[in-house]
Order: sequence, then structure tokens, then C-alpha cells
Amino acid sequence: MARDEVGASASGEREAPAGLSKNEILVWRTLAAGDDPLKAYEILDQLKDQGVRAPMTVYRALDGLEAKGHIHKIDGMNAFVLCNHEGPHVVQSFLVCEKCSTVEELDVLAVEAGIMAAVRAANFDMSNARLEIKGDCRNCAVS
Ligand SMILES: [Zn+2]
Ligand SMILES: [Zn+2]
Repeated sequence: MARDEVGASASGEREAPAGLSKNEILVWRTLAAGDDPLKAYEILDQLKDQGVRAPMTVYRALDGLEAKGHIHKIDGMNAFVLCNHEGPHVVQSFLVCEKCSTVEELDVLAVEAGIMAAVRAANFDMSNARLEIKGDCRNCAVS
């Protein structure tokens, strides 16, 4: 996938979801502008020109976006990606390329059905599940 220009208002750009704070919109747009997961300090770096200087501002916006289900944290990389599903979902699974570090969110319905059934059978009250599937992405698998 081609990388959009940062801050571009080119057609086809995704619109920020409704109900976000000003800082949440800035962070959301920063994540939407690139394909790769971004760490908090990389987001801060890109927002300096727009007057965001405090790391806490970025962390708070990230927390808010995550709570609303618009972004996900990739724990293994300590980085964030936009959610590509509609609305929050408790089972989150990602394909993480070990070669080029791209992350793709897996369509979760089948994974969710399996995990939910097993969790329910164990009589466990699940709040969320995050699965990072490591391997080679379709670009890197081609040799
Ligand atoms: Zn998602
Ligand atoms: Zn790759």
C-alpha cells in the first residue's frame, strides 16, 4: 500500500471519527497518514509543528483513542495502529511481520468465535484479548 503524504488532504483520506478531542484528532490523523505502527514519541515528534510538545498530551490522547476502540496498541512493538474495524471489539489480532515490521489487523470474527468459546468454557470473564501473530508478510514471503 502506498504511503499517504503526512498531513495531506488528498481525496480518499479517511475522516477522523466523530466525538474525538482536538488532540485525539491530531494523533488519529498522524496514525492515519502512515501504514506503519508508530511509537508515542514518534507521534509526538510529528506533532511538534502543530504545537503539541508534552508527552502527556500524546499519552492521554492515545489512551482516549484506545478506550474508544479507534486504535490498538501492539505490545510487542510498544507502538500504535488504527483499528480497521467498525467500533470496539474485545478480541484483537494482528499479523506482525518479523522482517519489515508492518502490522496488519486480522479480520477477527473466526478468531473471536474460537477464543470466546474456549474462554467461556473456562468460566472466565474476559475483558479483552490481544493476539500478535508473528511471521512473514505477503511482501516479505515472496523471495
Ligand atoms: Zn480493531
Ligand atoms: Zn514484511
